[in-house]
Order: sequence, then structure tokens, then C-alpha cells
Amino acid sequence: MEFFQPESWQEALEIRAAHPGAVPIFGGTDVMVDLNFDRERPEAIVDLTQVPEIQDWSREDGRLSIGAGVTYTRIIAELGNMLPGLAMASRTVGSPQIRNRGTVGGNLGTASPAGDALPPLYASDAEVEVASSDGTRRVPVTEFITGPKRNILEPNELIAAFYIPEAEGPQQYSKIGTRNAMVIAVCAVGLALHPEQRKVGTCVGSAAPTPVRAADAEGFIEGVLEEQGLWDSRGEIGEPALVRFGELVEAVTRPISDVRGTAAYRTHAVGVLARRTLKWAWDEYRGGE
Ligand SMILES: Cc1cc2nc3c(=O)[nH]c(=O)nc-3n(C[C@H](O)[C@H](O)[C@H](O)COP(=O)(O)OP(=O)(O)OC[C@H]3O[C@@H](n4cnc5c(N)ncnc54)[C@H](O)[C@@H]3O)c2cc1C
Repeated sequence: MEFFQPESWQEALEIRAAHPGAVPIFGGTDVMVDLNFDRERPEAIVDLTQVPEIQDWSREDGRLSIGAGVTYTRIIAELGNMLPGLAMASRTVGSPQIRNRGTVGGNLGTASPAGDALPPLYASDAEVEVASSDGTRRVPVTEFITGPKRNILEPNELIAAFYIPEAEGPQQYSKIGTRNAMVIAVCAVGLALHPEQRKVGTCVGSAAPTPVRAADAEGFIEGVLEEQGLWDSRGEIGEPALVRFGELVEAVTRPISDVRGTAAYRTHAVGVLARRTLKWAWDEYRGGE
């Protein structure tokens, strides 16, 4: 197996173009598992850890550009205030060792429906920047992931960064696992309140072939908040509206039954998580926490 270790983004893109069968690696927390279990035997590996350009983040006009190689540990430490939902999700990933190496770029590369970084990206309309030696393109994350462990990356492309608006309101991420740590989500819900736009973003993880936005639920609750003037009054959301919101989020699930849980459990649990995350975020918006 050939091993490449580019030291610049340009060099990485040239290697990728010349060796389309080469597997990119950053933290290796997915790639090395596949290699160790002999699920994959690529002709070459491109180690991106020496490429400085993808290991930085920046902020412009309320929007963050975060390099594919920024680890979960750094997201929690450096971006927790600006991206509370993604930071919450990052805290649930693996263990400190995994968070020290693992990246959102790798989570996007793997495109697992259970990827914890993905629901917060969906709930805030993030975009993924992919690059090749021919140029770059920016794709909404909802279009970047096309199926379980599938994304739109062409063989000559790499993930450069993702773009996400800084939180303009409370955000939540809640995940069910079979134990408290080091666990892949049985199901999860990410939620973001966008008070300036009077919008609510919601995404379900690990209960469909890809993470999935709950558009009807979002539309429903936005209608309730608008009609009852709750964005301005900061009044409480009534129980019937919370219940209906949960039902509409449940409706987008297309879960499987597997070792981690049954389809019926996942659907039920997603409804519970949806109600809770909305209530927690709304209570915070009201000034309760
Ligand atoms: C013990 C353990 C626990 C885990 N727990 C969780 C968990 O709780 N939640 C969770 O979501 N995940 C978990 N994972 C999975 C993994 O840690 C995450 O998916 C992580 O985000 C992968 O990031 P990485 O940088 O290590 O990716 P890598 O393993 O380096 O790469 C992953 C994929 O992305 C591709 N890739 C990486 N960087 C790029 C790039 N710049 N351009 C193009 N393609 C790229 C690779 O080719 C590969 O296909 C766990 C893994 C382990 C081993």
C-alpha cells in the first residue's frame, strides 16, 4: 500500500487527482477500524494531518468556516459558545482519545446516518466545501449526503471545510445510546432555534438511511410560535403543540431494527427527544436557564 503525506492543500489535491483510488485519512478513527478488520484494502492512503490549510477555522459576518481537519476536542473548546449544538453533539462522540483525533470532515466522509456531527449541521443549514485540482464547490449538507455511508464526493475531490452560521439562539442535541459513553447513537435529534429568522431547524439522526430534516414539524411549530406571538412574548409552548411537534418529527423516521434497537423503539424515542429538545431550547430562549 502506498502512503502519501502531503504538506499543503495543493499537494493533497494533486495526489488525490493522480491516485483516485487512494483513501484520505485524517483522524483515522473510521478508516483504521476498516483497515484493521480487513473491510478495506486501498491501493494508497493520503494522510491529511500535515496539511495546515484544513486545520483552521474563521469567522466572517456571523458565519463560521471550519476546516475539515478541526477535531471534536477543538470544536468543544474553541467553538462551544458559537456552535452550542455542534459542541453538544461533539461531546457525545466516542471518548477523549476519539475526540482528540476525530473530525467533522471524517464524519462527513463516512456519511453514517448515526454520525453525531451531522444533525447539528442539518439543523443550521450548513454547507460543505469540496475541492479538487479543478476548483471548489459548495454543497448544502442535505445534498452532500446521499445515502447510508454515501456522499457526492468524486474520486478526485476532498472535503476542505464546512460553513455554518453562528448560533443566533439556543441549540440542543440529544442522543440515545445503549450506555452512557463510547456509543453509536440508537437515535438522536438536533434542534436549533433561529429567533432572528423566526425559524426552527430540526434533524433526526440514526433513524433513517441519512440524517433527515423534519420539515413538516418545523413548519408546524413555526406556525404556532408566530400565531401565538411567542417569539416576542417568550411565553410557554403548550403541551398539545409539543406533542404534535414530536409526532411530526417521528413521521420522518424510516428506521431499521438492529442490535442497537428496534425500529418501533427508535420511532418512539425520536418523538420523545424531539419534544424534549424543543422544550429545553425554548426554556433557554425564555430565559429560564
Ligand atoms: C471507539 C470509537 C467510537 C466512536 N464513537 C463515535 C460516536 O460516538 N459518534 C460518531 O459520530 N462517530 C463515532 N466514531 C466514528 C468516528 O470517530 C467519526 O466518524 C469521526 O468523525 C471520523 O473522523 P476522522 O477524522 O477520524 O475520520 P477518518 O477515519 O480519517 O476518515 C473517515 C472517512 O472520511 C474520509 N475523509 C476524512 N477526511 C477527509 C477529507 N478531508 N476529504 C475527503 N474525505 C475525507 C475518509 O476517507 C473516510 O472515508 C467512533 C469511532 C471509534 C473507533
